[in-house]
Amino acid sequence: MEQTLKILVVDNDEIERVSLCSALDKTGIPMEISEVGNWNNAIAALTINPYDCVFLTIPVPEQNYLTQIPTIRSSGILVPLVVIADEVKENHFHSPTLGVTEYLSRSRLDPENLAQVLRYCIRLYRTEMQLTWTNERLRESNEVINQKNQKLQAQQQLIDWQKLQLLEASQLKSEFIATISHELLTPMNAIIGFSQLLLRPWGGEITERQRDMLERILNSGKHLLTLLHDVLDFSHLEIGKFAFKPQIFNLSQLICSIVTEMRSLSKGKNLSVLIHNHLQNPVVFNDPLRVQQILNNLLSNAIKFTESGFIWVEIEELPENRLVIAVRDTGIGIDAEDIKNIFTAFWQVDRTTSRKYPGTGLGLAIVDSLVKIMGGQITVESQLGNGSMFRIELPRQISHPHPKYLHDLSPVKITRSCQRIS
Ligand code: ADP
Repeated sequence: MEQTLKILVVDNDEIERVSLCSALDKTGIPMEISEVGNWNNAIAALTINPYDCVFLTIPVPEQNYLTQIPTIRSSGILVPLVVIADEVKENHFHSPTLGVTEYLSRSRLDPENLAQVLRYCIRLYRTEMQLTWTNERLRESNEVINQKNQKLQAQQQLIDWQKLQLLEASQLKSEFIATISHELLTPMNAIIGFSQLLLRPWGGEITERQRDMLERILNSGKHLLTLLHDVLDFSHLEIGKFAFKPQIFNLSQLICSIVTEMRSLSKGKNLSVLIHNHLQNPVVFNDPLRVQQILNNLLSNAIKFTESGFIWVEIEELPENRLVIAVRDTGIGIDAEDIKNIFTAFWQVDRTTSRKYPGTGLGLAIVDSLVKIMGGQITVESQLGNGSMFRIELPRQISHPHPKYLHDLSPVKITRSCQRIS
């Protein structure tokens, strides 16, 4: 059922007004009709009562009524307005600023036309109201979003500023650590050098007890030197002062040489260190010292965390000129929960002071940074109690100065001979 509409008819000619009201009555649309004889009364009625539609008759000499419509529109009276004129001039009423919803010629005031116009005007009005409401909500949401955006921008600025502060603090810390470590290197080298001299046969007569003490000084010095180098490297990596000198060299020879040197570490443990080399072309362009540093770290960890069994170093080629170096062991393994942390600086699975395995927790952080600098990636597979595998994927040629030299194959000399050790 249609709701009853409230209609206002404005006409100064009473006969015309009555005839319009009766035509409206006959439309069949349920409505309550109010009538006024002039525009001023109409405005008064509109400000008091809400109407669904106004029919306004404009006699030709009084078309200045029309000039008042925008004024009432701007005062917030938005009711649909149908103007009835004796002589309809379409252009005259269709000015968008005028505020007339629809116009009708007096000659077309039959119930059928009126019903059609009324329904159209009300539908249009409701749609416009809906649109206005939606626009208003959009404007409000926009305002809220803008305010939130401003807050976010302010927060972002604060975060950026704090980040800068942190970076500066971290830079200062790394520079301080680098300086201290550097300063410690000289006395440490002196301690190592002089204890080595004293241990030599021409170092002078020493008792067994003195020899034992000197050996302890030498070993502790060497251990401290390794730690100092780790700390120094780590702080240099942090402040971006890391020396990197890529060149062409033979990876197979380098790995054999490293494994041979590592043999001393596995002494006293029931360990076999094996190499599985599947490289067709062993020539790479990289920094051999840094590759050595990576492998030293992985191998010394493998030896440290394995009591018995095997350690394998596997090298193979991948498509697109990439290589894989994997270090596998049959050691204590790493819990899945801990794997995600092992590349974090100073992080160790066992962080107790009474831990069985010594170390700084910097080795893997340095390895991770070096592998990234080389354009590679490192992954770990491990099972608690069953061993671990650290797998490094590297480009055969890291992106540094002269790629053309890769075809000029003159590998750097690596003095140690390649041998399988166990
Ligand atoms: P650390 O100086 O303690 O060896 P790393 O950064 O080299 O420091 O390694 C971080 C931690 O990762 C180690 O303390 C150890 O808990 C774990 N880890 C590294 N390599 C192995 C491995 N091969 N087997 C078992 N645990 C390992």
